[in-house]
Parts: sequence; C-alpha cells; structure tokens
Amino acid sequence: MWFFGKDKIKIPLREKLEIRLEAIGGQGANSAGKILAETAVLDHGFTGNHFSSFGSEKRGTPVKSFVRISTIQKPIRSASYIRKPNLLVIFHEFMIASHPEVFDGVNQDTDVLINSKSDPQAIQLPKGVHPRWLGTLDATKISNKTKSGLNTVMLGAMIPFLPELKGEKLEAVISRYFTKISAEEKSNNLAGFKAGWNEVKVKAALPHQDRLVLEAHQFIKMGYENAPFGGVILNPGNSMLKDHESSRKGFAPKLNTEICCHCGYCDLVCPDYCFVWEKNDSKKMGAELLGIDYQYCKGCQKCIQICPVEALTLAPESEIQPKEKLSLLGSQNES
Ligand code: SF4
Ligand code: SF4
Repeated sequence: MWFFGKDKIKIPLREKLEIRLEAIGGQGANSAGKILAETAVLDHGFTGNHFSSFGSEKRGTPVKSFVRISTIQKPIRSASYIRKPNLLVIFHEFMIASHPEVFDGVNQDTDVLINSKSDPQAIQLPKGVHPRWLGTLDATKISNKTKSGLNTVMLGAMIPFLPELKGEKLEAVISRYFTKISAEEKSNNLAGFKAGWNEVKVKAALPHQDRLVLEAHQFIKMGYENAPFGGVILNPGNSMLKDHESSRKGFAPKLNTEICCHCGYCDLVCPDYCFVWEKNDSKKMGAELLGIDYQYCKGCQKCIQICPVEALTLAPESEIQPKEKLSLLGSQNES
C-alpha cells in the first residue's frame, strides 16, 4: 500500500519504522524523538521506543536520537543504534561536510530530511550516498521568525515522510508535551510546527547528487572489534577542529571595536574563551580586544548581556564579514 502525500511523494505504509535524528546539542533532537515516540505509542496505539546518544553533554556537540515504531504492535526489544534508517533527519546542513558519518546506513529505502536553504536536488551528498526522497526547508529561518524551537519546525517537516502518523496527532502531542512553557511560547512552537509542515520541499534524490568528495570521509563501522575504550580521547586537540555555527541558530555576537572599552567582562563570562586579545599597554587593562573567534562561539549571548557599553550586539550570521572572524591561533581565518 502506498501513500501519496505532499508534492505527490509516494511512501509505503510500513510495519516497522526506524528514524534517526542527527543534530547538535541544544537543537532539541532528543525532545523531538520523544514527541515522535509518544505520538506513535499513546496516540496511534503502535509499539515503539526512543533513546538518544549524546556527545560530551555540552551545547555544540553531536547528538543522535533514535525512534523505532512497529505499526503492527510487535514488541520492540532492541535499544541499539539504528544503522539503516527509513527516515534520516539532519538538523543542520553544516553536518553534511563536518560530520559525514551522519549518512551512515543510508540506502535506496531511506528518505532524508535536511535543514537547508537549498532545493532538495541542489544538495550535494557525500560519495556513495543515494537516498530515495530528499526534503529540505530553511528551518533555522522559520524558527527565528516564529520564535519556536528548531525541533518543532523539523517535526512539522517530517510529516510528509511519515504516512503512518497523523500530523494533527503530532501537533496535539507537541501542545501537551511542553508543560513548563508559557501559552505564548506554546503558540509560537505550534506556529513553527505548521510552517515546517507547509514549507518543506520534497523531491526524488537524483543519481548524481553524491558529488561531494570529502578527504577524510569515512563511514563509521561500529562493532565489538573496533569500539574504542571508554573515556579515551583518541584525537587530542580535537576542539581546534570544531565549528559551532550550527548551534548559533542563525545569529552571533558582533563586536563594534569603536565602542569597546576593553574592560574584559565579555571574556570573563564566555564559556568557550572566544575572545581574541592583543597585549597593548596603552589600554586600561593592558590588552586590546581584537574580536571573536567564531569557530568556538556557540551563540549563548552571555557576552552581549554583560557588555556595559553595548559594544556587542546580536547580528544575523550573514552580517558577520569574513574579516571579522578572527582566530585564537593568531592569524585571520579567511580574507
Ligand atoms: S564587555 Fe564589551 S566593552 Fe568590555 S571588552 Fe567586551 S566587548 Fe569590549
Ligand atoms: S555568544 Fe559570546 S559568550 Fe557565548 S560563546 Fe559566543 S562569544 Fe562566548
């Protein structure tokens, strides 16, 4: 039996459904997984389970969330990594190149949904990745516009891929799931959910879309033979490779050096030591603030709140020029 949904995509109704959400800490993938599983089990009478795997419990690190559903009420006993998802959801396009292992197990029966401004058929996939249907939407923009969580927007966009679940029931679960937020925040999240549902574009993946060649690209082959010892950091100095753009939700602090009085308060509150300084005896504190290393900035905005002279303001990512992106390693990142 086939389901004809948005943009005439054809998805068969399935007896077993496996969904993997790939995100960055702070984007709400764990809650999205819980909401999906609750909708399937409590509101549709299916059997299902959900669990997540976190990085270092820090905003900005990779998070995986897994949902298994049986529409024929078979008991689900597995709580292991989902290797071959029916639906793969990527919460930020940036992960395609930075974490290519997110495509692990994608095959001709996998549908992929990506938070991206691009048309589905303009997305470049890593070599060897051939999904069935590809969906995209600018979920970051929708989330900023509706003041909703990114996760509720992505949940709305998942509906065309999940004919087994009714969108209205998912909406009802979102409404009752967030018990501790205000009525206004709840209504914002529902607006984000509906916008995600309406605005997602879904197209068949083209055979030649796997043209992204990544030098260090390797799919993870996990198993008892190659699992690393727990607690061992195999790539020391790895934080130098991080780029937290995806956790900044489209906005970042912008420094106005004309106003800055080099007091250093921003540096005191920044949890990730993003501020770049140069010794300068002519300044009161003996150092001059040159700018921000955005590679480490996760967008928490603590620096903006503390700055006494409003030299730091919140600006869209697109307004931050390459020359403003300083490096803590001493040289400018780009020209
Ligand atoms: S808190 Fe504001 S004024 Fe003080 S150093 Fe930071 S940016 Fe400059
Ligand atoms: S928003 Fe400010 S305080 Fe937060 S990580 Fe970025 S630079 Fe540091």
